[in-house]
Amino acid sequence: MRQLIAGNWKMNGFVRSLDEIRAVRKALLTTPPAADVLICPPATLIARAVEAAQGAFSIGAQDCHAEPAGAFTGDLSAEMLRDAGATAVIVGHSERRQMHGETSAQIAAKASAAHRAGLLSIICVGESKKERDAGSAIQVCAEQLGASVPDCATAMDTVIAYEPVWAIGSGRTPTGQEIDEMHRNIRDRLAQRFGQAARAIRVLYGGSVKPTNASQVLGLACVDGALIGGASLKASDLIAIVSAVPRR
Ligand code: PEP
Repeated sequence: MRQLIAGNWKMNGFVRSLDEIRAVRKALLTTPPAADVLICPPATLIARAVEAAQGAFSIGAQDCHAEPAGAFTGDLSAEMLRDAGATAVIVGHSERRQMHGETSAQIAAKASAAHRAGLLSIICVGESKKERDAGSAIQVCAEQLGASVPDCATAMDTVIAYEPVWAIGSGRTPTGQEIDEMHRNIRDRLAQRFGQAARAIRVLYGGSVKPTNASQVLGLACVDGALIGGASLKASDLIAIVSAVPRR
C-alpha cells in the first residue's frame, strides 16, 4: 500500500507561505516520493496552493460542513472546497472535537459530504492522556471509529488517522508497540465492518511526527503514512519526512 504523508497547517499560513508549497513541489520533482503527498493549508490559501503545487502533490482542506449549501455563516461545504481545487478534507480532528464540540455523528456526516463532493476524507480518532492512563484508549478509539466512519466509506475515499490527543504538538509519541496495537485494532474493526475491502483503507499515525522520528514511525508495518502538524509548515521538514518513507 502506498503511504500518504499529509500536512495539516491548522490556522497558520499567509500568501508568503506559498513559498513553502513551491519548495515542496521543487523537491518532489527532483526526487519523486515513495508516498502520496498532501498539504492542507487554511481554506484562504487552497486555490493559490493548488496553483503553486501545479499537480506535483495534492492540496486539501481541514474541515467541511455536512450540507452542500445554505444559511451556514462562516462555513464551507465540501463542494466549495472541491471547487477551490481541494481533493481531500480532514474531518474530526481532535481540535475540532474539543474546541468546537463536534460529535462523531457530525463527523460521519462531514465524511459523507466529502464523499458526495468527490473528496477523500481523512477521519481522525484518538484518545486523551486521561483515557490512555485509564486503560481505555482502544475502547475510546473503537467507539470514535465506529461512529465517525460512514457506512458508505471505501478505501478509495477514506483514510483513518490515529492521533492520540496527548501526542499532538507535545513532542511526545507513543511507543512503536502502542502504535502497532492501536493500528491493528483499527484495522480489525474496519475489517469486521467492511470486510476484505477494508484491508486497503490507509491508517495513518499523527502526533509529533518530525524528521528525527519519521523513519521509526513510518517503518512500522502497520503504519500507512502520517498526518503531520507543526513539521508540515516548513518544506524542508516535510520533505525530510517524505524521504523517510520506506520504499516497500
Ligand atoms: C495534528 O495536529 O494533526 C498533528 C499531528 O500535529 P503535530 O504533528 O504538530 O503533533
